[in-house]
Amino acid sequence: HLPTAELQALDAAHHMHPFTTNDELAEKGVRIITRASGIYLTDSEGNEILDAMAGLWCVNIGYGRDELADVAARQMRELPYYNTFFMTTHVPVIALAKKIAELAPGDLNHVFFAGSGSEANDTNIRMVRHYWAEKGKPTKSIIISRNNAYHGSSVGSGSLGGMSAMHAQGGLPIPDIHHIEQPHWWAEGGDMDPEEFGLQRAQELEKAILELGEDRVAAFIAEPVQGAGGVIIPPASYWPEIQRICDKYEILLIADEVICGFGRTGNWFGSETMGIRPDIMTIAKGLSSGYAPIGGSIVSDEVAAVIGASEFNHGYTYSGHPVAAAVALENLRILEEEGVVAHVRDVAGPYLKEKWEALGDHPLVGEAKIVGMMGSIALVPNKNSRAPFAEAGTAGFVCRERCFANNLVMRHVGDRMIISPPLVITTEEIDVMIGRARTALDECYAELQKRNLLSVD
Ligand code: PMP
Repeated sequence: HLPTAELQALDAAHHMHPFTTNDELAEKGVRIITRASGIYLTDSEGNEILDAMAGLWCVNIGYGRDELADVAARQMRELPYYNTFFMTTHVPVIALAKKIAELAPGDLNHVFFAGSGSEANDTNIRMVRHYWAEKGKPTKSIIISRNNAYHGSSVGSGSLGGMSAMHAQGGLPIPDIHHIEQPHWWAEGGDMDPEEFGLQRAQELEKAILELGEDRVAAFIAEPVQGAGGVIIPPASYWPEIQRICDKYEILLIADEVICGFGRTGNWFGSETMGIRPDIMTIAKGLSSGYAPIGGSIVSDEVAAVIGASEFNHGYTYSGHPVAAAVALENLRILEEEGVVAHVRDVAGPYLKEKWEALGDHPLVGEAKIVGMMGSIALVPNKNSRAPFAEAGTAGFVCRERCFANNLVMRHVGDRMIISPPLVITTEEIDVMIGRARTALDECYAELQKRNLLSVD
């Protein structure tokens, strides 16, 4: 390939990046990832970078699995594309839907496919409203979501999300989306006991339903464990109360499993880890381990029966794309046959939990939390307090840079550092990952100290 500097210049000239400014790209010089194997990326300069984010929370089985490449090539030759719109279907999509129905809990037995998580959440918006209309309750159209949530970038899914930076642009949110507070005890819990706080935040749902009107609320959507918001693990009191409220007021519960699904929390679905019974689950990312773009909504027998009773005027050209479906099916075969979910639950997860929580000893770290293979640490200017940095995001940015310099990809959300490594990571690789994270934290601490950004008692 061309030299790095030339590739960077071409990238800056023609390739528009999400969530990045032109100045940032010009000043910093974007990293060019050229290949990957296992949990390691290689860049155009030959650096080997440990990917503690599994791409973007998706490459659960790790990079470089030839089986998926072979399946994709075979399927492309046999049947590269066909639609499922007008009384046609194909073998890969049938096999995949059957497999997902087997893996999903309860009576979540039906899949409406999409090309991504955003598309699937757009489907959900239309589907829950159509569901209630078909049941003779057309006024039930409001969907309640949470501040700081991320459910995608399309107009619909971006509206479900609760990120103020997204809502500040492009006319979001669409009507009839309502947001309540998140159960983020560390940042917002003040002096309250975490469980009491979790309960109070869950009861915000009940308050919102009563204020908006029971007859106007269609659904509540949330991730079992909030991912892009900063890996926020709710207090144990939170989800049972949410479930009780959804049951009481006949509100459909949508679990966005785009990150949590397919093993990340140590069960097949985050809903199982959190003990909830959703009516609809959003899936994407880990469904194919990112090897092909595919997503979907898994819905209950009852929802599928109501939606299918008449035409649902909705669908995407690439819904259940045969190549993506074949790749996803092969990915699920690998997850199952290699016992990857059990590996997270019984081996890598407990090992990582011990090492990750031990980072809580670091002078820069306020709390270290993890469930399965998704963890976060809060960076604080003073270890004896939960007070944040005066200028939010600076410490996180410095830390991410120090990680990169140490050939480690961790993400920062404000001043929270998050990890979500490939689920197949070994205990030896976890040691390498934690070693690099510690070095990055030390270097970050030194730099923040030099810049007088730390406050010491
Ligand atoms: N929901 C959640 C919880 C996500 O994390 C994401 C992507 N980060 C999405 C939905 C959107 O998925 P996609 O980017 O595939 O559209």
